[in-house]
Amino acid sequence: MRESIRLGTIYGVRVGLNVSVLVIGAIIVVGLAAGRFPAVYPDRSTWAYVVAGVVTAILFFVSLLAHEIAHSVVAIRNGINVRRITLWLLGGVAELEGEPRTPGADFRIAVVGPLTSLAAAVVSMIVAAILLAAGADDLVVGMFAYLAGINVLLAVFNLIPAAPLDGGRVLRAALWAWRGDRARAAVTAAKAGRFFGVFLIVLGIVEVLFTPGLGGLWLVLIGLFLVNVATAEEYQSRLSETLRGVRAGDVMTTDPIAVDPDLPLDRFIADQAWTHRHSSYPLLDADRRLLGLVTLNRVREVRHEDRATTRLRDIACPPEELPISEPNEPLVELLRRMQHGTDGRAVVLDDEHRVVGIISPSDISRAVQVRGLQAFDSSGSREAAARTWLP
Ligand SMILES: [Zn+2]
Repeated sequence: MRESIRLGTIYGVRVGLNVSVLVIGAIIVVGLAAGRFPAVYPDRSTWAYVVAGVVTAILFFVSLLAHEIAHSVVAIRNGINVRRITLWLLGGVAELEGEPRTPGADFRIAVVGPLTSLAAAVVSMIVAAILLAAGADDLVVGMFAYLAGINVLLAVFNLIPAAPLDGGRVLRAALWAWRGDRARAAVTAAKAGRFFGVFLIVLGIVEVLFTPGLGGLWLVLIGLFLVNVATAEEYQSRLSETLRGVRAGDVMTTDPIAVDPDLPLDRFIADQAWTHRHSSYPLLDADRRLLGLVTLNRVREVRHEDRATTRLRDIACPPEELPISEPNEPLVELLRRMQHGTDGRAVVLDDEHRVVGIISPSDISRAVQVRGLQAFDSSGSREAAARTWLP
């Protein structure tokens, strides 16, 4: 999730907004200030409705943020770093830099979000009750009543057992604890997510066709999002299962061709790229330590007329932006870090920080293919291979 506006840091986690969050903000403000508030609490000035709508929207975002912070705090307590929290069009995202190691941790990280939303609902209800008893304006009481309702809705929706919703994570944790197989549990939770996503899309289309207004479009949007993420998660879980036990050193292309960091691009293209057929080249210093990585994609982005005056070191991806691995690292864990790399490649270093290999997307797809063949061969027959998927 791209962060457009940075808000600050809470519990050591970067918090920001994506500009798309303004769409929900606008929907809430307009819905309240021009719809619900004037209908339920008539005879106030337009400004009163607008201010009440804006304040309610801001308090809603605060409660949404509390939900994500709760996920993050519990994740950090369970040894998982949180890259950042971003509020966006469809809610909030806390980006975790790793996966829970036990079903218990998986359950706790997931369930604390909806519980926080329920707590926010209870607090809102108490505030509304106090304001009512103190004789406050109905409109102000109504703001907190609305916040209580929307937080209950948020908690209940997110507890539906369909990944990537929190309820889907709870389902995954439960199946994992029960059957002892995380990857299979994740596949089941992701399938439930796809099913639920399709259900929402159908429901949304029916709503658009048979009811006035365009509220159904929102359901279609959420449904599409859920199907998308659930499909990616299912693929990721199957990949983890396929690559279990494979290490970075097993798949890397060994002895990569090192090139002189000061070589101009035109010379590099004529002398190196044409003869070696690799798509990435490490730049090394005299001790074979890494200075950066050049890919053909990076070379291609430089204009023809600039290639004689541009050196490889000018366009290389610097080491701090590259996923760095060691030969014994499980490939699945490296893959998670590679998703955030800009060039889709990882560099493998030995104990003395010397470059011993490079892992490119084609190395990984080759590993996946070979593992698929191995699984088939060792099982002896198609039936035996299929049975591993059944509970
Ligand atoms: Zn959540």
